[in-house]
Amino acid sequence: MAALAVTASAIGATSSKLEKVRLLAAYLRTLDPQRLPVATRYFAGRPFPSGDTRVLQIGGAALSTVLRELTGIDGDALSRIYRRHADAGDTTHDALLEAGRGGTGGLDLVGVAAAFDTIAAGGTPRQRAGLLRELLAGCSPEEARYIVKLISGDMRIGLREGLVEEAIGRAFDRPATAVARADMIIGDLGEVALLARDDRLDDAQPRLFAPMRYMLASPVSGAAEVITRLGDEVWVEDKYDGIRCQLHRDAGRVLLCSRDLKDITEQFPEVVRAARRVEGALLLDGELLAFRERRVLPFAALQTRLGRKRPPPQLLAEVPVVFVAWDLLFQDGESLLEQPLRARRERLEALGLGDGFALAHLERARGVDALEQLFLDARARRNEGLMAKDPDSAYTPGRRGLAWLKLKKPLDTLDVVVIGAEWGHGKRHGVLSDVTFAVRVDGSDELVPVGKAYTGLTDAEIAEMTAMLLERTVSEHGSYRTVRPDIVLEVAFDAVQRSARHRSGFALRFPRILRWRRDKPPEEIDTLSRVRAIAEQLAEGPEQRVDPATAEA
Ligand code: AMP
Repeated sequence: MAALAVTASAIGATSSKLEKVRLLAAYLRTLDPQRLPVATRYFAGRPFPSGDTRVLQIGGAALSTVLRELTGIDGDALSRIYRRHADAGDTTHDALLEAGRGGTGGLDLVGVAAAFDTIAAGGTPRQRAGLLRELLAGCSPEEARYIVKLISGDMRIGLREGLVEEAIGRAFDRPATAVARADMIIGDLGEVALLARDDRLDDAQPRLFAPMRYMLASPVSGAAEVITRLGDEVWVEDKYDGIRCQLHRDAGRVLLCSRDLKDITEQFPEVVRAARRVEGALLLDGELLAFRERRVLPFAALQTRLGRKRPPPQLLAEVPVVFVAWDLLFQDGESLLEQPLRARRERLEALGLGDGFALAHLERARGVDALEQLFLDARARRNEGLMAKDPDSAYTPGRRGLAWLKLKKPLDTLDVVVIGAEWGHGKRHGVLSDVTFAVRVDGSDELVPVGKAYTGLTDAEIAEMTAMLLERTVSEHGSYRTVRPDIVLEVAFDAVQRSARHRSGFALRFPRILRWRRDKPPEEIDTLSRVRAIAEQLAEGPEQRVDPATAEA
């Protein structure tokens, strides 16, 4: 632990990423197989392997009590030390040093790991605090600093996971890409370090109940680009508007993980029940969707289920959720990552998943025209877009690769007129960069505001527009100025919502300026009825299609 502390301090003291990697690599190289995974995890800021759900459960108050008992320093003095650093680890270091109470140190990493195991094993808060006191009593102040940093979940030495990966590669002379691939699959840097040491990085395979990073899609602009990238044969699935989910199942156990690899199993008991009815050891990739009466419900419905642990029966009945699968990544001990999508889909369909499951709707297209037609159909169904996949591609966890492409239909844009402005903040102070804009009430000259935008124009355009807005100022009310409405902008947005804040009754969500429409006179801007129509269409949600999951159906 002493060497780890020295290394960590040296890494924290340099801002050079290269130097951080060099220092860590040199240290990792000195470790034996028992200590290497432990230390690597610690440098990644994790007391336990990732995917291991144990926590140390020692809060600030408990730590403060332990420190007072250990050092005799009173609460006020301890708070003063804390204010100096705003970091629990540094506070611990200084408190032990000031009180002359640090142990001689020389703790073994294996001993620290064992102590963490015991603390996490439970017991009352008092018992846990007692265990921590014992652990810290044997530490030097430097060691204690990093033990407490680990407990609070962050080493704060400017070492992102990517740099730890680099250091592993460098320590054992392995390619960075091989280390990164193994980390994407296993998700635990400690184990990756061991594999790198033994030159077994290629052995990294998905494991059930260890969440794996997802394969992601890259955005493309249109059908032609898809064909250029993927070749003539393209598989097209609906792009669902739900939440990404990884489903692990084996006899007696089910795990559901979210996009950020959190355990969300308890939130979706009906999916868990459905997964229990399936056979085999499986890892599926897909999306959770609210689904009732053979129809996918809009995202807003699913939203009522998010974050609700053990949802009440009424909610379960109102918003039932299904798992729409598009990939099978592991089956009965066999990793399917390197298999082509064709083979994975075939095995997925052969599973005969039953109630509670569906399959992503799949169309096989050849050539630009066929693809273009699918895209038009999706638009007609108000779908956000399509996913195009290369049927011959492997599954690459954690990569925004080019084997999966997403075609997104941008929402309609609106042409609006600027009716007011305010001075910007920060970098934008001194320019009128915050503009309020309006649409026209149908059949009249009345303008009603629908939103405010800050971004999208170049600095030169903002400067030019500031001068024009100053010229056009009609009146000032506090920081807001009303201007003569003749600057037309095209704005994009994520949604239109009903809102009492604006006189129009609507507000654009996340509006951003796409273009300054110098070519368009204010008489020709969009009208309130168009805003209303977009809002109504959005409220209905897209029509998303799924395929039945049972092979016989
Ligand atoms: P984005 O969030 O825009 O980067 O799009 C990627 C997300 O689209 C994924 O994380 C999935 O949640 C979602 N998605 C919807 N339909 C599919 C599909 N058929 N295949 C893969 N991802 C999909």
